Amino acid sequence: MKQSKSIPLKTVWYYNRRAFGFWWKTARAAFASTVLYGLVSASAPYVTIYFTARLINEIGGSARAEVMFRLALVTLLTTSLFSLAEAALKRWKNAVYASLHYREHGEFVRKFMDMDFCDVDHPYSSDLYSQIMQNENWDGWGLRRVQEQFENLFTALVTIAGGLLLSVTLFTSKVPDAGGLSFLNHPLCLAAVFAAMLAAAVFSPLFSNKAGSYWGKYAKDATFGNRVFSYFGFIAEAERERAMEIRTYGQEQLFRRKMQAENTFGHKSKIALWSRGIMGFYQSVSSILSRAFTGIVYLFVCLKAWAGAFGAGSVTRYIGSVTALAGGAAALIRTAGEMRNNVPYLKMAFELLDIPNRMYQGSLTVEKRSDRNYEIEFRNVSFHYPASESEDGDGTEEIYALKNVSLKFKIGERLAVVGQNGSGKTTMIKLLCRLYDPKEGEILLNGIDIRKYNYREYMSLFSVVFQDFKLLGFSLGENVAGSETYDKNRVSACLKEAGFADRLAGMEKGLDTCLYKNFEPDGVEISGGEAQKIAIARALYKDSPFIVLDEPTAALDPIAEAEIYAKFNTLIQDKTAVYISHRLSSCRFCDRIAVFDKGQIVQFGSHEELVKQTDGKYYELWHAQAQYYA
Ligand code: ADP
Repeated sequence: MKQSKSIPLKTVWYYNRRAFGFWWKTARAAFASTVLYGLVSASAPYVTIYFTARLINEIGGSARAEVMFRLALVTLLTTSLFSLAEAALKRWKNAVYASLHYREHGEFVRKFMDMDFCDVDHPYSSDLYSQIMQNENWDGWGLRRVQEQFENLFTALVTIAGGLLLSVTLFTSKVPDAGGLSFLNHPLCLAAVFAAMLAAAVFSPLFSNKAGSYWGKYAKDATFGNRVFSYFGFIAEAERERAMEIRTYGQEQLFRRKMQAENTFGHKSKIALWSRGIMGFYQSVSSILSRAFTGIVYLFVCLKAWAGAFGAGSVTRYIGSVTALAGGAAALIRTAGEMRNNVPYLKMAFELLDIPNRMYQGSLTVEKRSDRNYEIEFRNVSFHYPASESEDGDGTEEIYALKNVSLKFKIGERLAVVGQNGSGKTTMIKLLCRLYDPKEGEILLNGIDIRKYNYREYMSLFSVVFQDFKLLGFSLGENVAGSETYDKNRVSACLKEAGFADRLAGMEKGLDTCLYKNFEPDGVEISGGEAQKIAIARALYKDSPFIVLDEPTAALDPIAEAEIYAKFNTLIQDKTAVYISHRLSSCRFCDRIAVFDKGQIVQFGSHEELVKQTDGKYYELWHAQAQYYA
């Protein structure tokens, strides 16, 4: 990430304009409330200053009772009115702003839902997202800061306009010639005072920005630090599963040490050193300059009043407006600096929002065959995960999860896929379901490359129970059906098929029982085996022509497992089934078995054929297990 001082203006403009665009699209009311509030809150002090000055001038001048009464009344009324309007608008603005986090989060959630699976699966995206959220929540940098900056920018502009308007007469009013102070009328003197006014407005915030720019330089470290904190924070606060292991393996020390070692925020960190040193220096210079230059302007105002150019009331008016003007200009420059310092953080947000959908989306409709006559073919398919690259002498080299896989299976077939951990079985399923596309070769459905089919339609052909399946914190019925409205009888029947009938009967709220406690305090915590049955029921409910079961009984007890096998044929009916299992005895009922080893299919055939090949992988795997049953 570039350091903030080297960020060109064009880039600052580009990212801030995009950020404004983002908010214009997601929270237009925020702009309306900010503009109205800014107008009223920035002009309110001037209204008070203006009328109070006139009142004091009247008291110190002609002191007409009737005029004084009228001015006091107008001052009181306008001040109260502005205060009221300001308070009401602030309430509105705060209410709108309170929803900004939610709206922004909603945009990121939408992005993740729409993203190609390969990008969601890539650690880069989730890393980037957690960095973005932490930058916002911890240091306040990122998209939401832009709203705050818009408010500051707008208020500053109104303040500057009001200040200029009220201080014009400071320069145009004349000191009488008598009294020896007529040099105050000299254009050079006026120019010098004006220059001091400008200097107070410009130099002080410039130095303040210089101090702030160190945050931009720190962005990379801060991002890493935030990631470390959130990793450890998340484990400690939110991950109940890990809390168990941290205790049983006594990992507390390791945990604390790692956290301290990676800490980029401690008192020895760069930002702490800078705060004590260079940032502190720039801050001090900033306030010294501000005081020195405004002092010159105050002196000019007092001398002019003393020489009789205007009354005591106008002194308060000019001092008030010059102070406000300097404050407005300072805020303007400070905000501009902040907008520049915010660029690295905005870049991160747009890096994520800009991730394109690269997967080819075909338009062919999948022929809905009532005979379910589909044929799948893998033709020389090779694949490596985007995140798997290894460094070698010549640079990076991809590590293939699948290499030259060719395979054909037909409707109604039961295909078992076996092999050791990491041999590529799940990867093959991910390619089959188009969660990823092959890097080389092609997968064909009825002779046509699957990329050419309409993506959603193609997806609808598969019911998959993944090895690391996940259920949602919604009701049991919604989990099985995948929607809020569903056929209750069919959901119950699928749960029964999957062996969940007894448990369902014991649930007071039946299908409306909420799973887990995310949303309902009386939600049920289910065991791994129960969850697996629900996942199987979900696959049955989808009723697709292909059913893929990846270690579907890993979490089941022996009795439940035996029940599932006994019912396997009724469960699958006429569907084409792909069945991955380490339990080789359970693959025997499959027509054919593909044996995977190191990303390749090394054997293919029926159990009887394969078990005879004594030098084959299947024989080795089969006997490794069989010896315990012998
Ligand atoms: P199996 O299902 O046979 O246990 P997988 O298909 O899950 O094996 O994995 C095959 C290889 O791909 C393994 O080396 C694994 O580490 C790697 N792999 C699996 N998933 C990912 C992923 N999301 N990103 C990077 N590598 C992965």
